[in-house]
Order: sequence, then C-alpha cells, then structure tokens
Amino acid sequence: MKTIGILGGMSAASMQLYYRELCDLTRERLGGLHSPQLLIRSLDFAEIEALQAKGAWREAGDILNREAHALERGGADLLILATNTMHKLADQMMEGVGIPLIHIADATAKTIQSAGLKRPGLMATAFTMEQAFYTDRLRAAGLEPLVPNDDDRAEAHRIIYDELCKDITTETSRSTCVEIASRLAEAGADSIILGCTEVGMLLNSTNVTVPVFDTTLIHCQAALDEALA
Ligand code: GLU
Repeated sequence: MKTIGILGGMSAASMQLYYRELCDLTRERLGGLHSPQLLIRSLDFAEIEALQAKGAWREAGDILNREAHALERGGADLLILATNTMHKLADQMMEGVGIPLIHIADATAKTIQSAGLKRPGLMATAFTMEQAFYTDRLRAAGLEPLVPNDDDRAEAHRIIYDELCKDITTETSRSTCVEIASRLAEAGADSIILGCTEVGMLLNSTNVTVPVFDTTLIHCQAALDEALA
C-alpha cells in the first residue's frame, strides 16, 4: 500500500471527515485490521482564511508548495489537497514536487461522467463557484456546471465559513442548503456537486432530490484507488 500524503486542516472539520472516510474505506476494501498509510499535515485554517480574504493567493500558494515538499520528503507516495477552494493553487502547490496530486475536481468529474450525468449544480465557497479554476476544469472534462444565484452563493459561502468550518451544523442551514439544491435542480441541474469538503455535513442523498456527488468521499476513494493500485 502506498502512503497518501494529505495536506488539510482547511478546515479541521473536513480533515476529520477525510480521516474517518479513508479508514472506513480501507477496512471495507481490505478487511481485518487494515488501515490506510497516511501522512497528514493539518494547517491552521485561520491563517489560510486570512490570506484568502485579502486575496493573498501567491502567499497561500507558497505555503501549500512548502508543505507539499515536506510531505514528499516525509515519505508520501501521492498527495491530496483536502479542500476544493485551495485547488485554485494546485499548480503552484505542485511546483518542483515529484509525486502525483490526485485532483479533487478531476476525480469528481470522472465519477459524474461514469454515472452518465452532465449538468451538475455546484455548491461550494464563493471562490469555487465564481472563479474559473474549478468550473473550467469541470467543463474541460465535458460537464456543464450550474452555479446558484447571487443570494444563494452568498448564503452558501456564509454557512461554510461561519458554521461548517467551525464544526457547527444547524437545521436552519440544512434547510437553506436543501432549498439551494432544489433551486439548482429546478434550473436544470441533473445532479449536485458538494463542492466544498464540509457541505456533506448538511446535504446527502437522503435530502437532495437529484444524485449527489460529495467531493470529500469521491476524493478519498480516488486516493485509496491510487494507493492500492
Ligand atoms: N473546505 C472548503 C472547500 O472545500 C472550504 C475551506 C477552504 O477555503 O479551504 O472548498
């Protein structure tokens, strides 16, 4: 089994989901006492969020690059970056790094394609929904992503940063997210991408009417496939 290097803590709430999911998946696939070989670097999200908020992306990318090198030196055979938003900086992160990155948007696009779907609604941070780095990558894979309207994007972003990243889940926010997902489906989305690694704390296949693609779970599956290949 290869060692998966995880660059996470963005946020700590979803880092815990990654660890749990990778452990569960490994036990399901290999049985017995098997558990994944991981090297986890969990950052202080307050520092990263401050850089995001002031648009200091270059500086944030330098941190990701430094940490990716540290994971490689530490013995990781492959890398995952446990956040959708920070994939904006995936190229900078991987500069000079010799091990592969399992890209969260590529893994997600592949899973949606295999399900025969094409027009996913994207629920994510404003950065991920509004900047081209993510939706263009989905389009390049042959998908036609839809994003929520202005108010819904703002509210989804607020819920992610004010609540989910602090490990707070409320029924009010769950209902709000269910409504946002419904409006995307009414607008023609044939599926919903939970395009933020915390959104699965509120939405899943039981409360969304169209097929749901949770990027956290898909990313863990893709990383484990590679680790066991
Ligand atoms: N984990 C989130 C994501 O998947 C948001 C936090 C961040 O900005 O990294 O986009």
